[in-house]
Amino acid sequence: MSAITKSAALALAPLLLAAAPAPAPVTPAELSATVKEIASDPYQGRAPGTPGESRTIAYLVARLKALGLQPAAPGGGWTQTVPMIHDVSGAPTKLAITVRGKALSPIPGTDIAPGTTRATRHVAIADAQMVFVGYGVSAPERGWDDFKGVDLHGKIAIFLVNDPDYAAKPGDDAFGKFGGAAMTYYGRWTYKYEEAARRGAIGALIVHETGAAGYGWNVAGNTVGGTYALPVEPGAPQPVAVQSWIAMPFAKALFAAAGLDLDALSATARSASFHPVTLDGARFAIDMPVASSAIESHNVLAKIPGTTHADETVLFGAHWDAYGVGAPDAQGRTIRPGANDDGLGVASLLALARAYKAGPAPQRTIGFGFWTAEERGLLGSEYYAQHPAFALPTTVANLTIDILQTAGPSRDVVLIGAGQDSLDGDLATAAAAQGRVVTPDAKPERGLVYRADHFSLAKRGVPTLLLMGAGGGVDLVAGGRTAGDAWVSDYTAHCYHQTCDTWSAGWDLRGATADVNLFYAIGAKLAGSRAWPTWNATSEFKPVRDETAAARKQ
Ligand SMILES: [Zn+2]
Repeated sequence: MSAITKSAALALAPLLLAAAPAPAPVTPAELSATVKEIASDPYQGRAPGTPGESRTIAYLVARLKALGLQPAAPGGGWTQTVPMIHDVSGAPTKLAITVRGKALSPIPGTDIAPGTTRATRHVAIADAQMVFVGYGVSAPERGWDDFKGVDLHGKIAIFLVNDPDYAAKPGDDAFGKFGGAAMTYYGRWTYKYEEAARRGAIGALIVHETGAAGYGWNVAGNTVGGTYALPVEPGAPQPVAVQSWIAMPFAKALFAAAGLDLDALSATARSASFHPVTLDGARFAIDMPVASSAIESHNVLAKIPGTTHADETVLFGAHWDAYGVGAPDAQGRTIRPGANDDGLGVASLLALARAYKAGPAPQRTIGFGFWTAEERGLLGSEYYAQHPAFALPTTVANLTIDILQTAGPSRDVVLIGAGQDSLDGDLATAAAAQGRVVTPDAKPERGLVYRADHFSLAKRGVPTLLLMGAGGGVDLVAGGRTAGDAWVSDYTAHCYHQTCDTWSAGWDLRGATADVNLFYAIGAKLAGSRAWPTWNATSEFKPVRDETAAARKQ
């Protein structure tokens, strides 16, 4: 101030007041450039265990090195090897359900879609009893147990999809017990198969219903490409030998043949006094060949070490894998390049890494996890969570990006999984600083919050925040929510997991970039703070975090 006159300072004042806020750390151009590269043909759609993976990993490591980050995988390198079992089940040579001597002949693909995640060449089940277990939920913290001690060893368990609260009405025991229409983890098909295995069942069948599942039979009944799974950890139960959805019309016919009314039984499943029901005289048999192979894939892990609290980590995550090469589309394209899903998430993490390196060193460590095999069932992030590089009790938060919208600036950001933890408030504060607001997911019953990598960490107690640009239409500056919804509908109908998920010079990434800069602000705040984000009292993830409270120093 000493070098300029008072009048000059006064003349400058309006300019200073009118000046824009500090330049946004992440730019649309850098997001676009990264996606253009990793969604290009040489990357072959980035399928795990293929040459496309090798190219992707090499690119990521080179970028991270050039940015000056440090390797952070367990063991000290850039990559964490993720072992996987890939099973492709062949057409069953035998598939029979008999009820009281009457043979029902379920048609694979139409009535049933059997598969397995065991490392095996052959699934053979003869004469297994069948037991309806309602929603199959064991939730002591909610005072709910559908099993009532029933013995499922060697049996086929039949589940309803979603949780007991999904269709509950006032007066039902389940009403309000599982978060209303929003799906809890107890509603996910993965939970049903896991619970069946924990109880020794040999098979698990889930009755398909479009509304309760969140998708149609066209998705549930499609077993093309097979299943991917992590090898069973020592001491953990074997997965069920056969797992499958069954179509609603077939399920009704099966129950009717056993003298039962599925609709009436489903109503009793919303009662806390529900008891499993054996399908009297029903027997299940299957003989199915399986092509099983072992695959090795890789997570990529990097960090900017913290200066004063290096053992506390703010962990960003995105998945590098996409759908690889498949059948040609109408234009003859075979590569599913995953430009948006989740090329944009990968680009966002690299941009955040660059931006943080450009600023002052953080007090806490900032970590970056580029996960494999998200599209195969969150496998890379799940393996990481089983074998973490940054201790989970002192992982401050996980901030995950999976798909961003490409239709331009928006007045809001859609939050999937609102109401779980204190990071909601951080997101609202960061959005307000941009002159934007947070809009909660309009359809929480779809359970999108269980379909991205942050979930692998959330279920182990790490507070999480998820940006998922296809989770709901935003309020676009040009066209409002109508235009935002139209973008989501168009993307999910035509491009999601398809050949058309390509990079485009025509993308308007200003809205996506603003979203990434929300994460930049939240990450910067957390990395410079002594605060620990907390789960809300009603969250299903709070109890596991509480077990390690002593590890988190204030
Ligand atoms: Zn994705």
